[in-house]
Amino acid sequence: MRTIVIATGNEGKLKEFKDLFPQCEVLSLKDIGYTKEIIEDGLTFEENALLKAKQVSLETGRIVIADDSGLEVNALHGAPGIHSARYAGDHNTEANNQLLLKNMEGIADRRAQFVCVICMYFPDGRYVFAKGVCEGKITRFLRGTNGFGYDPCFYIEEYGKTMAELPLQIKNKISHRAKAIQRLKELMNENFSFE
Ligand code: IMP
Repeated sequence: MRTIVIATGNEGKLKEFKDLFPQCEVLSLKDIGYTKEIIEDGLTFEENALLKAKQVSLETGRIVIADDSGLEVNALHGAPGIHSARYAGDHNTEANNQLLLKNMEGIADRRAQFVCVICMYFPDGRYVFAKGVCEGKITRFLRGTNGFGYDPCFYIEEYGKTMAELPLQIKNKISHRAKAIQRLKELMNENFSFE
């Protein structure tokens, strides 16, 4: 049985990848005792996902999956982008959301997208990217309590609700992460076999 390491400390992400690879043993960094810091100093989601997956793969000799994600706002030229987690303060969701709403005051073009890039890195140096995008609009007020991060200010036209007002089962079907995982699945079916 093949083993795949997911370079995340997030239990939710780990579960999604376990579902994706039922024929493999899927382990977290914690499971393999990997505690070394990973410096995410890339300039794009792709660079950051690759940095993480490559470092862990080359140091452990295992197939590794890492992802990087964030929010891009058209009128802010793609900000907060790769800086999403620390737009106003490191992982300070409330401050990040308030700064976003403030920076969007008086702006008519509210279009934005959540982006997720997954990198799967093989110890022989091969790697693939899978990208998922979820389109929406930035609200003028925060709405809803589900999810995390920018979900309360991200409005999905199709549902007439913010991401934070949607049940998690729906978010997990339409999200950027779900789409990136779906794309990775397609790539796996086309190019790789796991005995
Ligand atoms: P990471 O890729 O999990 O490190 O996410 C980076 C940052 O992007 C998070 O801290 C959030 O601010 C934002 N983000 C990524 N995915 C989502 C999402 O599904 N909802 C809301 N915010 C998100």
